[in-house]
Amino acid sequence: MLPRQLQSLLAQRAPCMWRNECWVPIAQARRKCEFGLKDVQDAARRWQRFAGLLARLFPELGPTQGIIESPLYAADALQSAVLTTQVPTAGRWFIKGDHTLPVAGSIKARGGIYEVLLHAQTLAQMRGLIGAEDDLRALGSPAARQLFADHEVIVGSTGNLGLSIGIMAAALGFRATVHMSAEAKIWKKRRLRAHRVDVVEHAGDFGAAVAAGRRQAEGNARAYFVDDENSAHLFFGYSVAALRLQEQLQAAGRTVGPRQPLFVYIPCGVGGAPGGITFGLRQLFGDYVHCFLAEPVAAPCMLMRLAQDVDRPINVRELGLDNRTDADGLAVAQASEFAATMLRPLVAGAFTVAEGDFFEDLFELKRSLGLSVEPSATAGMRGPRWVLQSATGHEHLVQHDLLDCLQDATHVIWTTGGAFVPDDEYRSFHERGRELRTQATLGYTRQ
Ligand SMILES: *Cc1c(COP(=O)(O)O)cnc(C)c1O
Repeated sequence: MLPRQLQSLLAQRAPCMWRNECWVPIAQARRKCEFGLKDVQDAARRWQRFAGLLARLFPELGPTQGIIESPLYAADALQSAVLTTQVPTAGRWFIKGDHTLPVAGSIKARGGIYEVLLHAQTLAQMRGLIGAEDDLRALGSPAARQLFADHEVIVGSTGNLGLSIGIMAAALGFRATVHMSAEAKIWKKRRLRAHRVDVVEHAGDFGAAVAAGRRQAEGNARAYFVDDENSAHLFFGYSVAALRLQEQLQAAGRTVGPRQPLFVYIPCGVGGAPGGITFGLRQLFGDYVHCFLAEPVAAPCMLMRLAQDVDRPINVRELGLDNRTDADGLAVAQASEFAATMLRPLVAGAFTVAEGDFFEDLFELKRSLGLSVEPSATAGMRGPRWVLQSATGHEHLVQHDLLDCLQDATHVIWTTGGAFVPDDEYRSFHERGRELRTQATLGYTRQ
């Protein structure tokens, strides 16, 4: 069961923070895990080998020679806007802007595209179209296209994973079917259909859409199912972000060390994306990085999975929560077991986000930094305030002996999607945020 007080806050949908008591120092975590930094580096090397192909398939990747990456934005204006008084120990805040990721428009570009590419490479190698060390641009050749046209890629999604898988699969010539859960936005389905991807709409939630995809692929040797609830490929595709962030922090002059902690706040759905990134960051920065997950109050599936004292899958409906949220990318009722196992020793904690806060924060991000994101992508924005200004955050800082070095801390808020949101849709999100903001009587720092 969950600790009593936490359970009651979660059940009331009251935003709250949880600290992970199963967190262990990296040396200890490494001894118990078959995966390590080599897996992150291996994924980075594979990504690099796909770059030439990606640049050829997607003209928007020309300027970066086929590398899919997002900027790190200084967030001083956000920091001074949301902290009501200037706090000298607030450190420096940044936004890791995965909402701008090309090709897929969300963090799923890191995982989904990678897994489709690996599958294409494996198929082409099995058929003898390419050798193990060949130039992977050959995956875009007419012979490869012909091979892929005979094969299908299938996935279940709340929207963004479907977009990344569908777009990448279609670009290589695969047939693709995306099973969309109820909350998937209409524009995401339209965009996929425009790429001639089959979109199957489900009345059920993410779990139901994944199950439908898994069933469709079963027993079909020409079908490949991307399993968001279990995929190590997705996970390590995401993990490469840690290496990129490390470079970007260096370039920004930020040092991470024992007296210069790094705090990272990542929106969490099924757990693959934040899991992979947390894994990569802990491999690189060890105990100096503190990763927190952000989930909607309607779907805190990973928080519940990790906070309970028994080891079993748990669905948010067990607490009477309904998994209904406008943060469609995070509308997941049951966490990935694979991601949960990986996260347990590594993640510092998690917090929940009230439904209206997604919109208020979307509005604030635009106002202070001029960035346009989708609601899910804002989930991490209250992270620094949870750590710096809540009782649970304070406990974390005390436990890690960080109270006297917070002025040198770096806080990274991960924004995870939004590049493709149609203008009229964005305007309605923004307007809703403005209205909520105007109505707020308790002030912005309410938690
Ligand atoms: C998918 C997604 C996430 C979380 O990724 P998971 O692997 O589902 O945990 C966060 N933000 C957005 C916008 C997403 O689409």
